[in-house]
Amino acid sequence: MATAQFEDQAKNLKTADFDVIVVGAGLSGIAAAHYLKTRAPQKTFTILEGRDRIGGTWDVFRFPGVRSDSDMHTLGYSFRPWQSAQSIGGGPEILQYIRDTARADDSERKIRFGHRVVKASWNSIDGQWTLEVSVTGEKSVQRFTCRFLFMCSGYYDYAGGYSPEWPDRERFKGRVVHPQHWPADLDYAGKRIVIIGSGATAVTLAPAMAEAAAHVTMLQRSPTYIVALPRVDPIAAWVKQRLPARPAAALLRWKNVLLGMWFFNYARKRPEKVKKLIAQGVRRFLGPDYDLTHFTPSYNPWDQRLCLVPDADFFRSIHSGKVSVVTDHIEQFTETGLRLRSGKTLDADIIVSATGLQLQMLGGMALEVDGKPIDLATKLSYKGMMYSDVPNLVSAFGYTNASWTLKCELTARYACRLLNYMDAKRYAYGVPRRRDPSLGERPALDFTSGYVLRARDILPKQGTRRPWRLYQNYVKDLVWLRFGRMADEAMEFVPKPGTVSK
Ligand SMILES: Cc1cc2nc3c(=O)[nH]c(=O)nc-3n(C[C@H](O)[C@H](O)[C@H](O)COP(=O)(O)OP(=O)(O)OC[C@H]3O[C@@H](n4cnc5c(N)ncnc54)[C@H](O)[C@@H]3O)c2cc1C
Repeated sequence: MATAQFEDQAKNLKTADFDVIVVGAGLSGIAAAHYLKTRAPQKTFTILEGRDRIGGTWDVFRFPGVRSDSDMHTLGYSFRPWQSAQSIGGGPEILQYIRDTARADDSERKIRFGHRVVKASWNSIDGQWTLEVSVTGEKSVQRFTCRFLFMCSGYYDYAGGYSPEWPDRERFKGRVVHPQHWPADLDYAGKRIVIIGSGATAVTLAPAMAEAAAHVTMLQRSPTYIVALPRVDPIAAWVKQRLPARPAAALLRWKNVLLGMWFFNYARKRPEKVKKLIAQGVRRFLGPDYDLTHFTPSYNPWDQRLCLVPDADFFRSIHSGKVSVVTDHIEQFTETGLRLRSGKTLDADIIVSATGLQLQMLGGMALEVDGKPIDLATKLSYKGMMYSDVPNLVSAFGYTNASWTLKCELTARYACRLLNYMDAKRYAYGVPRRRDPSLGERPALDFTSGYVLRARDILPKQGTRRPWRLYQNYVKDLVWLRFGRMADEAMEFVPKPGTVSK
């Protein structure tokens, strides 16, 4: 804190508590701390975390079988490669990995747990943010100030997941659970389970619960593309035996980045071929007689996120008869289960509503710039991390078609570049401005998934051209964000008071 105060006094700016405040101590917050320490070590910072534990997503989600659905060579950090032989990481292992990274970096002690940021107000005269923070166990809000705000608050509402309003839900005599609030005491051994949903969570839960349950039915309104991958990547195992840990990790990361990008582009260009390939994969595990309509979505591959199933565990549990898939709509809940639109009924002891997340921007915090409330839905996303007319704020948001960490590390490095650049030029703040009247707008996420469509009113937009356009392409972003100009046509930099502009 001493440095920030000393510098502020020297430059006649109002004193800030910290140079940078990071909000959130999940995967992104711990990456942010790493880069701040290594690339902008002159900056003072703290991490405000609303919960009382580290890890975000990987601490919250505790349903059976919880795991990554992208490979850990890209979901793990580049600066601390994932060591396990398993390319698909289990939830508890990922949580431990985040904890260990924070400990190894000594960033754990920077975290203030139980500090939920409820409002952030920017003041251009002072060149700083004031955060209103609700602290666990305290009645009044605390105030923290900083020059630069680094939001690592994830993308969904921690208060609760999405649950549609189903008719007569209260009639059901069994238990209804949501994967975001998995009850630690839930005993499902020998029980009949219905999982509502068809996304990554549903296909993870079904085989995991089927190990102990009497039977699991996955009830989906519409199918999803599902692809089986080996849990232990044989190429990774081969490379790790032959190369030292660091080069092996870098090679595997690039292999997976490039392979993922190739597959995504191929799916976009040749959707019919990819549909056929995916269908053949399903057929291989479920046999020639299985009704493939359950795995034939109406959209094209990668119009929504693809589901990965390690070692085809989901398909194997269907093949063994422990799991069945029903494609239908819920008409109503009954005392004993569900009545479907087709007239069919599903009896259940436990119903799991794996119906998805409720997207939320900036951790639900209210945002104000110079006394005016900011509605992010009216703003454009700049370089996929800042917002038009919002000064000195960067937000970590991952890719839709690749591992979150790839973009989140690029964002953290860019934030440090920006901080160092502003120091070197003696700028008080930088703010992206939409100056080009010919710039078009489009949704920030061009996914058709329900959780994205439901959130259209709260998501910022993207522009039709750089630097406002999101390419969802790691290689393009890497070159652009690491080596591109900071002072582009959109960015307005404001000098510190007393600085003579040249
Ligand atoms: C079940 C599941 C599996 C997933 N698997 C993958 C995968 O395989 N690959 C992939 O790329 N992505 C995956 N994701 C997406 C995943 O969320 C990201 O990969 C990553 O964990 C996000 O990290 P984060 O730190 O940005 O956000 P989070 O993990 O959401 O952490 C955000 C943190 O910020 C805190 N916070 C939020 N708001 C505030 C506030 N106002 N004040 C203070 N603190 C606040 C939260 O308490 C939390 O600790 C998965 C998501 C889920 C739910």
